[in-house]
Amino acid sequence: MTKVAVVGSINMDLVALVPRFPAPGETLIGSRFETFPGGKGANQAVAAARLGAEVAMVGCVGGDGFGRELLSGLAAEGVDTSAIRVSGEASTGVASILVSGGENTIVVVPGANHCLTPSMVEASEQLIASADVVLTQLEIPLETVEATARLASRHRVPLILNPAPAVRLSRALLDQVACLTPNEHELATVLGAPSLPFPDMLALLPGKVVMTKGEHGAYHVDGSGQFWHQPGFAVSAVDTTGAGDTFNAALAAAWQGGLRQAMRFAAAAAALSVTRLGAQGGMPSAAAVESFLQ
Ligand code: ATP
Repeated sequence: MTKVAVVGSINMDLVALVPRFPAPGETLIGSRFETFPGGKGANQAVAAARLGAEVAMVGCVGGDGFGRELLSGLAAEGVDTSAIRVSGEASTGVASILVSGGENTIVVVPGANHCLTPSMVEASEQLIASADVVLTQLEIPLETVEATARLASRHRVPLILNPAPAVRLSRALLDQVACLTPNEHELATVLGAPSLPFPDMLALLPGKVVMTKGEHGAYHVDGSGQFWHQPGFAVSAVDTTGAGDTFNAALAAAWQGGLRQAMRFAAAAAALSVTRLGAQGGMPSAAAVESFLQ
């Protein structure tokens, strides 16, 4: 079993269906309301656990009802939550989402996710040192991501960094990353190279980047400059929310089998995830991916 340590965000998504988007100062009556567990960190932790990895998460929630619900949801998925802190100051991160006619507006309040400090990650050094792979994203403070990268590098544990939401990253951080997993737009932002075609961007970080491109699959340039394309698997897509999270989790869960095999497994897992509704709702089991690949 691959041991995956996830350092990342934990949110509650609050989704309201509305007939149209309200104007400033207006009150509208919505037709439906639902809450869904979310946050890229938590989504990737759940996906990796479903794919058979032994997952421990480092994160931070508020001391409120959402925080308690999210922690018990993660535990029910088999994620070790002992390194998730409960903030006494901030509320649990939320994404407030209005959906109307296939479009949405989203307000994210990071709350406790922004209270995840470098020292909290350093306090979980043992957890990171004993992992086979560390997985993180950019929905927590950048200095916490940098502390995670330093720890992973110190203990020679490969770090997969999903640079979302994207910001420009320093060379020092990129040097400590084993694998960066942006989509095309995120890769341009990370590199500060918006006008380059993607094969040229991949060649700037040989051996380091797995770039995802929706239904087209994923691309990689290896350390000797060889280009590799893992095609997407043809499925009938119902909801692509969470495809990236499933891809990252699967890449981590399959990391020890080598990158090309891990990319194939990740593309299959992510393809299965888009055939069902919801981010976490569509995340498949290892058995489902294996049988899909046969
Ligand atoms: P998001 O943040 O919306 O989850 P993303 O931009 O991070 O997405 P994508 O590149 O859209 O990630 O998708 C990740 C992977 O999921 C792709 O590399 C591909 O393997 C798979 N995938 C996405 N959409 C489809 C699809 N329609 N059909 C098959 N596979 C898909």
